[in-house]
Amino acid sequence: MISKNIQELKAAFEAELKLVDLNASTEIDAIRVKYLGKKGLVTGLLKQMGTLSDADRPLFGKKVNDLKTFVTSEIERALSVAKEAALNQKLESGFIDYTLPADGIGAGSTHPLYDVREEIIDFFAQMGFEVDFGRDIETDWYNFEALNTPPDHPSRDMQDTFYVADKVMLRTHTSGTQIHYMETHQPPFRMIAPGHVFRVDNDATHAPMFQQCEGLIVDENISFAQLKGVLQVFMNKLFGPHVKTRFRPSFFPFTEPSAEMDVSCVFCDGSGCRRCKGTGWMEIGGCGSVDPNVFKNCGIDPEKYTGFAFGFGLDRIAMLKHAIPEIGLLTGNDQRFLSQF
Ligand SMILES: [Zn+2]
Repeated sequence: MISKNIQELKAAFEAELKLVDLNASTEIDAIRVKYLGKKGLVTGLLKQMGTLSDADRPLFGKKVNDLKTFVTSEIERALSVAKEAALNQKLESGFIDYTLPADGIGAGSTHPLYDVREEIIDFFAQMGFEVDFGRDIETDWYNFEALNTPPDHPSRDMQDTFYVADKVMLRTHTSGTQIHYMETHQPPFRMIAPGHVFRVDNDATHAPMFQQCEGLIVDENISFAQLKGVLQVFMNKLFGPHVKTRFRPSFFPFTEPSAEMDVSCVFCDGSGCRRCKGTGWMEIGGCGSVDPNVFKNCGIDPEKYTGFAFGFGLDRIAMLKHAIPEIGLLTGNDQRFLSQF
């Protein structure tokens, strides 16, 4: 009778497994192949199914499957015993030299952009500035309108701005954070707004996402001279005491007057080189006195208060500090590049 065959096979398997040296996983594996392999004994039973009557087949199938499950789990158990025995044997007999050098465990380091951001935050925090990271997605009001940017301004164009919905966009600058801040704080105050900004742009010196930091001081009798003083000290902190600054008249919708700030070339110290195109100066950021219209948009009295704002790109500063030739390297996550810092 066929179910008798199953019982006999089970008994034979158990007897065989009992005799095997449990330290020898190769022997256990040989038993596995003998019973469960393609031409194994249990597999052979399954092949007999075809010779059975329809009535006998289900019960027989179940019994063979039970046997298969039993054999599989017994072999797994024997293998794990063998593995543990082998390890114990190795530990008892073998000598482990704990003084051998270990495989290197690579210690990470902070990202150059992160370093620059922390340095900037530390510097301004020491001067009493509050830090507000703002939000990545802004409405038209905070990104443009409240900042005195007229509807026909080119920066509002689809070519330059990532819109996520009608009048909702990935912020193109961190200036919107200043609007949020002025709406919820009364002067006097000083704050900086570091964060990611997004533009439709991608080449060696422009990336679709980069980091900016803007700053704002609002108080009575704040002047452009104070702005220059703060930024000069800031540049000395970043690039060293020998670095000079200069301000060139410029235009931004949200400041009046506005200026571009240059720093004496950090590569040639101002004598003129390839990187500064022979001028001895490098552009580093923009600044200016807060436009009275911006104050009005935020409910701050422009007759009583004045203020100055400034902004610069963190990527640009990191590139100048470390002589990094391409902005893409900063976000490319290339280990060969990052391991240099
Ligand atoms: Zn130079």
